[in-house]
Amino acid sequence: MSNPSNHLPIRMISHVVRGYGRGSKDLGIPTANVNLEKGVLSCSIVDYDTLPTGIYWGFARIGESSNNGAEVDSVLGRVHTAAISIGYNPTYNNKEKTVEPHLIADPKHPKRHASSTGETQFQDFYEKKIVLSIVGYLRPELPFEGLEKLVDAIKKDIIDSTELAKSCPPSIEAEKHWVADASCL
Ligand code: ADP
Ligand code: MG
Repeated sequence: MSNPSNHLPIRMISHVVRGYGRGSKDLGIPTANVNLEKGVLSCSIVDYDTLPTGIYWGFARIGESSNNGAEVDSVLGRVHTAAISIGYNPTYNNKEKTVEPHLIADPKHPKRHASSTGETQFQDFYEKKIVLSIVGYLRPELPFEGLEKLVDAIKKDIIDSTELAKSCPPSIEAEKHWVADASCL
């Protein structure tokens, strides 16, 4: 497999589709499945098969950009740090590759600890436009023995993503700005 970092950053504009409903139901960590099949308005990588599998971090925005208008607590229009799974979810042995960001709310956001595992749980935003930049590689995608170990690993990914987003070099900061400003009309 090629070095995942060679592919970064990966910019995508698409919309959120339904997955298998496992992120929330089994794990308490929802992941917004990006539509790779059709309706991808833009992607800096043309062939999805070349996306190396693994866990990444980056920035994501749902819906049109908003500096004002949207409610302060809404997921819509704001840039969130995200922990992103790319792959086949070996614990579940999926057949199709997916790109699935978990959007992390700010520490004081009322939804930051709202999921059953104490992670971020917004309202559903299926069918909404998603703007995503994948900026860093965290770890390979591993099959875990049991959901508890998987949840522990994802919780660490969320901590790592949050820490990395706190002090970004200018090239990564630029991706955050792109996510904020990209038009998804
Ligand atoms: P699915 O298998 O349909 O993707 P999940 O259990 O993974 O189901 O839940 C994902 C859905 O939950 C997203 O599409 C979105 O509508 C909603 N959601 C709520 N909070 C978040 C969050 N913090 N990150 C990602 N998706 C979230
Ligand atoms: Mg999901």
